[in-house]
Amino acid sequence: MANPALATQKPSPVCWMNGQIVPVEQASVSVFDHGLLYGDGVFEGIRFYNGKAFRLQAHLERLMLSARAIALEIPYNIEVLSQAVEETIAAAPTKDGYMRMVVTRGVGPLGIDPSRCHSPQLFIIADTLHMVSERVRSEGAKVIIAATRRLGADGLDPRIKSLNYLNHILARMEATHAGADEAILLNSSGRIAEGSADNIFIVKKGELLTPPVIEGALDGITRQVVLELAEKLGIKFRETPLAPYDLFTADECFLTGTGAELIPVGYADGRKIPECPGAIYQRLSIAFKELVQQEI
Ligand code: PMP
Repeated sequence: MANPALATQKPSPVCWMNGQIVPVEQASVSVFDHGLLYGDGVFEGIRFYNGKAFRLQAHLERLMLSARAIALEIPYNIEVLSQAVEETIAAAPTKDGYMRMVVTRGVGPLGIDPSRCHSPQLFIIADTLHMVSERVRSEGAKVIIAATRRLGADGLDPRIKSLNYLNHILARMEATHAGADEAILLNSSGRIAEGSADNIFIVKKGELLTPPVIEGALDGITRQVVLELAEKLGIKFRETPLAPYDLFTADECFLTGTGAELIPVGYADGRKIPECPGAIYQRLSIAFKELVQQEI
């Protein structure tokens, strides 16, 4: 019989903070950090396979742009950050895992004004990955359309991957409450934006469709990879606004994200998606795995 004490043991995550690897117990930010007080900061979620970060350059570029958009000066350049990522992976408890790079505004007096925060904090955590369940991979995720809306570009540009996830969290709570796996957020016009932590694709009459980023979606790295693969495989695709109707009447639907990769969707607000996992999803999913092998 398995030793229950061993079964519950989990390798500890590691953390790179301000220039070095530190034990996670010693990695901390101040209670006066505006990242904590106001969600003032940006982040990236990066996957590593066999000890190498996937699409690192794209993640670091997106981080730099998110930071520029909120006038947050990252105290390191891309080369230093790439090296920090390598060091963190080398110290990580696993060769295949997930890392989180976070930049906060740093310590400042109480009050939202960032002009008195003079030292942004940067840390990277590498950990094992919380895998998507086998049930979801084989039968497809159940999604709901959340009542909570995605903020539009007139509120917070969806391209900024900021530390403000509260409306995504509220949407995810709705999904959990409804017994579903994921929530789809609509924009303020009632069109589909994205999942709480993933982008959405549907397939209709053999064509792959996804909302343009301006509809309220993060410019997902996995989304970009899927569009690249669709092009390569000769799958017709289009970025186009989508209504809930398009989701309810889709032939196939799937979600994309760094942690989840590609996940098929089986039900949308109780409507069965007829092809799950569908043929186009399967082609793209295989091509995605092959691409990871090639690039790693
Ligand atoms: N949308 C949101 C809101 C997300 O948090 C994520 C995960 N980073 C995604 C989409 C998927 O983006 P990516 O493929 O870059 O992980």
